Amino acid sequence: MNNTAFRCYLVEKDAVGNVLRRVTERSLANLPPGEVLVRVEFSSLNYKDALAAQGNPGVVRKLPHVPGIDAAGTVVESADARFKSGAQVVITGYELGAGQWGGWAEYVRVPADWIVPLPQGLSLKETMVLGTAGFTAAQCVQAIVLNGVKPEDGEIIVTGATGGVGCLAVKLLAKLGYSAVAVTGKSELKSRLYEWGAARVLSREEAVNTTDRPLLSAFWAGAVDTVGGQTLTTIVRETKPYGVVAACGLVGGTDLKLTVHPFILRGVTLAGIGSALLPYDRRLEIWRKLSHEWRLEGLDKLTTTIGLDDVEQYVQRILKGEIIGRTVIALTSDK
Ligand code: NDP
Repeated sequence: MNNTAFRCYLVEKDAVGNVLRRVTERSLANLPPGEVLVRVEFSSLNYKDALAAQGNPGVVRKLPHVPGIDAAGTVVESADARFKSGAQVVITGYELGAGQWGGWAEYVRVPADWIVPLPQGLSLKETMVLGTAGFTAAQCVQAIVLNGVKPEDGEIIVTGATGGVGCLAVKLLAKLGYSAVAVTGKSELKSRLYEWGAARVLSREEAVNTTDRPLLSAFWAGAVDTVGGQTLTTIVRETKPYGVVAACGLVGGTDLKLTVHPFILRGVTLAGIGSALLPYDRRLEIWRKLSHEWRLEGLDKLTTTIGLDDVEQYVQRILKGEIIGRTVIALTSDK
């Protein structure tokens, strides 16, 4: 079986150090060691994958590399009793597509501890429509809920709202009865954001205050921030007493210029959200919620399904902030 060839999107360096990307073939012998070999049926496109496709050293440990932090498929070989051949499984995060070859390939080989059984009630494709984006949006919303913010406490601001994490956060907050205020750079997509459940829509400019005042007028009961930088700095200073800001992203920057005043005068909670290493039991609980009481309807309306050959074009688009909703990659011919 080790000679079996499979298609993948490979990132490598040429002789003079330029990063090259192409769809090509590799054999199973090229995969890293691991207890479980999975035939990937669907993967997805996340911002982190696009960074990996650039060979970004903050994401990728070594080249050649196959990106894809998400994969869903069927177990082909397993040395672990928990996962029998034929089982349908989902893998998100850990080192998949970062330190280890990822889901933009027809096969992945991974440690059994990274694998979640296909959550009951979701198809393989639906798990990848959600993917790390949905898994992250759900953790952000969970942080808001568990820290005691209720729908009647006020509006929840969501930045990067037409992107993967953002659109799923808007949908989930709306489902749970919160008023989600969507922040977008794509004014032409306002009506789409209302369809997804936004109560109001703001432009990116309206969401940023460039003064250095330690506290600003308080508007938000909570926040899901995918942008970071000046946007996150503004939101923390605009959060109401005992509000919760779930910070998960960096598309707008990594700096965070703040004083302690929002925390010690307003009791604001800044909740860091990191999906990749979420402990296994909490991981199962998030997937259980997403497949039961937090199950989202109408996901097909925010999903684009592409093949491996289309990935390069979509990588360029996500880097420019142009992606709308979620992009699923079908590794079988069945899109
Ligand atoms: P997407 O590209 O799908 O969404 C990001 C959205 O942010 C864009 O669609 C755009 O939405 C907005 N945006 C893009 N550039 C800028 C900018 N310069 N300033 C302000 N807004 C901008 O990415 P994902 O949803 O996959 O990821 C979003 C962020 O969350 C990334 O930083 C990613 O790394 C992070 N992330 C973190 C995880 C974690 O575990 N902590 C897991 C998953 C993602 P619009 O046009 O509507 O404004």
